[in-house]
Amino acid sequence: MNSCLVCGSSGLVPLLRLSQGLTITSLCKTIEGRVSSFFCRACGHVQTTPLPNLAEYYAENYQILAQSAEEDQLLTLANGKLAYRLQHQAETLLESLEIPPGAKILDYGCAKAETLRRICQARQDLVPFCFDVSDDYAGFWKTFVPEGNWSTHRAREEWDSFFDFVTTFFALEHVERPKEFLGEIRRLLRPGGKVYGIVPNLLTNTADLVVADHVNHFTVPSLERLLCDCGFSGIEISDEKHPGALLFIAENSEGRGNTLPGDTRLEEQVMEIARYWEGYVGNVREFEDGHPNEGGVAIYGSGFYGSFIYASLREPSKVRYFVDQNPYRRKTLHLGIPVISAEEITSDLEVLYVGLNPRIAREAIEAVEALQSRELAIFVP
Ligand SMILES: [Zn+2]
Repeated sequence: MNSCLVCGSSGLVPLLRLSQGLTITSLCKTIEGRVSSFFCRACGHVQTTPLPNLAEYYAENYQILAQSAEEDQLLTLANGKLAYRLQHQAETLLESLEIPPGAKILDYGCAKAETLRRICQARQDLVPFCFDVSDDYAGFWKTFVPEGNWSTHRAREEWDSFFDFVTTFFALEHVERPKEFLGEIRRLLRPGGKVYGIVPNLLTNTADLVVADHVNHFTVPSLERLLCDCGFSGIEISDEKHPGALLFIAENSEGRGNTLPGDTRLEEQVMEIARYWEGYVGNVREFEDGHPNEGGVAIYGSGFYGSFIYASLREPSKVRYFVDQNPYRRKTLHLGIPVISAEEITSDLEVLYVGLNPRIAREAIEAVEALQSRELAIFVP
């Protein structure tokens, strides 16, 4: 990878190259290849070299939260409360946009389009449309989208300059050609129409750097630059409305947006994140060596962070269970290991690894009552 996917600059600084066995996707699957990422000094973008078999991985495995319409992930909000991600996305959109009655709204790369369904439940005047590269989700769309208002693989020709709003939730980080992706969204918007999107925020959700299928890791300046270069204006980016993510709104209009001035602290922040992940396995194993617990250990969190701990352990076979507060995860297996609630932890357990975003991990653990009465050695990497 020689040039920046956002600004085209060739001045990329190597950031991180993970060792083998740590190539874990956003759906917590281990795939072949090694994660290797770079920082662009010109626009502040961070990118990971796409793995050779990503296309195959998406075609065969990419079914996110596809068990049921309601299946969801948990978020920890700034006030410490838990919220379901899809519900939070729907509420935040309704608070952040002024949507005129009868507006046409397309969810682009929508998967099961559950956020759009909830938006339309709250606003029954809106006209929903769906687009995804996969055929797997039509069963979900049928339940609320009028026949003919969805398309797979290719957007319909009659959709040119058609939509009042196009949404894109957690898609841009996966695409190798982000300019083409946003250019297509702009083509589908009527003049004055708006794109509304969410991408992970590398600075507050640092695991984004090591998610193997995330090619793009956005910072505020690189996202601003991308939207601006794609011809959007009136760009608003918030790093507060969605935990660990950047939420953006931008308008399809003639005026040109401004790019942000370069931020010299950004490179240092990004380097620090890279160093954290470089030392991660060593930190986990140092703790593991100091706690040779023959009775087995548990990992709190069955998402990406928890899976990364599992992959980092010298003896992952000692993991007896994952602990997760998300009711959709319980009674399931993760990596072949049972997922239980904190209340179900057996009394003989002595060691717990915390697989949560380190920014919120300690607070989140302290809020779990079932853990407070226990004498556990708790490790937050
Ligand atoms: Zn760049």
